[in-house]
Amino acid sequence: MSAHSENSSLSAKLHQATEVKSAKCYQCGKCSAGCPLSTEMEYPPSVIMRMLQTEDLKNDRKILKSQTIWVCVSCEMCLSRCPMEIDIPKVMDFMRQKSIAEGLSNPKSKNIIRFHKAFLDSIKYTGRLHEISLVADYKMRSMHLTQDVMMVPKMLSRGKLPILPEIIKDKKKVSGFFKKSEHTNF
Ligand code: SF4
Ligand code: SF4
Repeated sequence: MSAHSENSSLSAKLHQATEVKSAKCYQCGKCSAGCPLSTEMEYPPSVIMRMLQTEDLKNDRKILKSQTIWVCVSCEMCLSRCPMEIDIPKVMDFMRQKSIAEGLSNPKSKNIIRFHKAFLDSIKYTGRLHEISLVADYKMRSMHLTQDVMMVPKMLSRGKLPILPEIIKDKKKVSGFFKKSEHTNF
């Protein structure tokens, strides 16, 4: 990474990696008004956009250290409401990766982050989501070993939890995506 990109603002890095321009936001607030999780966020989506526009290092750090970026579930409600078609789910995705890469992830979000990692590992190894592996992996990471365990027999009997993972034909292609992302500078 060049000295220039290391010193550039989070907004500039976002634009470089995703082509999303925070400057396009004119603070109408429609994204925050429609976001189903804005009440759980310390900075709703329109505030994140405003903080990015300031290009202030302190605000950049606040975003990367926030719980907001982990609370977002990528439902795309904000994107569908935005008159400027700003892809906020992509913004949040970038911030999550950047937050981990810089070791700034919020400690209160650690279980959400563990779930994200368990989810991605399941996709990485089989090309599809295998629920039992996902739950087992998450429980080992979080040590919430007995949480919801009483639901398992019922789900198994209803065929909701296949024991063996279904592996897609072109698994190499999926592994390739992961390798490529591991070598991407955020
Ligand atoms: S994608 Fe995230 S920020 Fe946008 S509406 Fe959904 S939860 Fe809120
Ligand atoms: S809806 Fe779009 S333009 Fe309006 S505040 Fe949100 S990001 Fe900015």
